[in-house]
Amino acid sequence: MRDLAAELAAIRAADLYRKPLCIEGTQGPVLLVGGRELLNFCSNDYLGLAADPRIADALIDAASRYGTGSGAAHLVCGHSAEHAALEEELAAFTGRPRALLFSTGYMANLGVIAALVGRGDSVFEDRLNHASLLDGGLLSGARFARYPHGDVSALAARLADAGGERLVVTDGVFSMDGDIAPLAELARCCQAHDAWLMVDDAHGFGPLGQGGRGSVAQAALGLKDVPVLVGTLGKAFGTAGAFVAGSEELIEYLIQKARTYVFTTAMPPALAAATRVSLRIVIAEGWRREHLAALIAQFRAGAQALGLRLLDSPTPIQPVLVGDAGAALAAAARLRERGILVTAIRPPTVPPGSARLRVTLSAAHTPEQVERLLAALAVALAG
Ligand SMILES: *Cc1c(COP(=O)(O)O)cnc(C)c1O
Repeated sequence: MRDLAAELAAIRAADLYRKPLCIEGTQGPVLLVGGRELLNFCSNDYLGLAADPRIADALIDAASRYGTGSGAAHLVCGHSAEHAALEEELAAFTGRPRALLFSTGYMANLGVIAALVGRGDSVFEDRLNHASLLDGGLLSGARFARYPHGDVSALAARLADAGGERLVVTDGVFSMDGDIAPLAELARCCQAHDAWLMVDDAHGFGPLGQGGRGSVAQAALGLKDVPVLVGTLGKAFGTAGAFVAGSEELIEYLIQKARTYVFTTAMPPALAAATRVSLRIVIAEGWRREHLAALIAQFRAGAQALGLRLLDSPTPIQPVLVGDAGAALAAAARLRERGILVTAIRPPTVPPGSARLRVTLSAAHTPEQVERLLAALAVALAG
């Protein structure tokens, strides 16, 4: 039998051991951990909505009307009027004919990729795609190829000799680097090679684009350019779940074929009701995006003045490169001593030698909190 204790010891020795923190209060710019307040620069709550009282009230109110559980999968008897209304509103938000809810982004990606391609087909993925997209590609049974990050000409060369259905899959905003995929070039390349383009905009919906419509809307790409568009609801929307937006036929096909849609319990209807309120706030409160953009500019200017190694990211994901996994871990521990929570991201989440502090900013932060972060980074990364 596999020696789990020995493998755990090896993970620990390589500075790759992980365990979750236990958060005692609400999600927000200040977290309570072990009775101590920590400034939070690691959540994906980009618009500061995870603990918005209006969304929490909508959840409570809907729970009193619908109860807590959906009771079944969508195709059995778990699909409520709140799910249907949220799907219609997400379709309108994305400018697509239809949208379909999934319980998580991970499940949406597994289900969609494995429904669209299989044996005899080909799937092409950016090397830095989110794990759920890579897993979906592997699960599908299609020929699986990764192309160098953002390299559309390398992709074009591979597409030219592929057979069967061809699906190209990319993050809109890359979750560990914060940069945006070359979406317009990808769309042109896919059209030229008669390939599907699927964009997972988990980190773009909310912070980017007019009304928070994401990186695809920001690049002015429509249904023909990006026929498969995925978004998640647990990040900027502050609730949980995910959706796929696309044509009438795509959504009807996924309802028949996506196993992670068919064989799982629908999200609680109260959560769909709360997300409808969240969606309205995301669209209406442009000041959140403006404040966030100002904090991003403040952080980048301050970090550059300190000589920190930033990546070329215009988004709330602002990684500070450290390199070695142990050094990244030590820097995160020094920040924590100073009351600041930033995650060290290590392999296998990022390529070996590119361990980093993944700083994320939220509209809930104040400029003073960003100044505190910069001062602490200066000390934590000195020498
Ligand atoms: C977080 C994330 C997911 C997974 O979404 P969940 O709803 O958390 O399962 C999928 N894709 C990307 C790019 C992500 O960052």
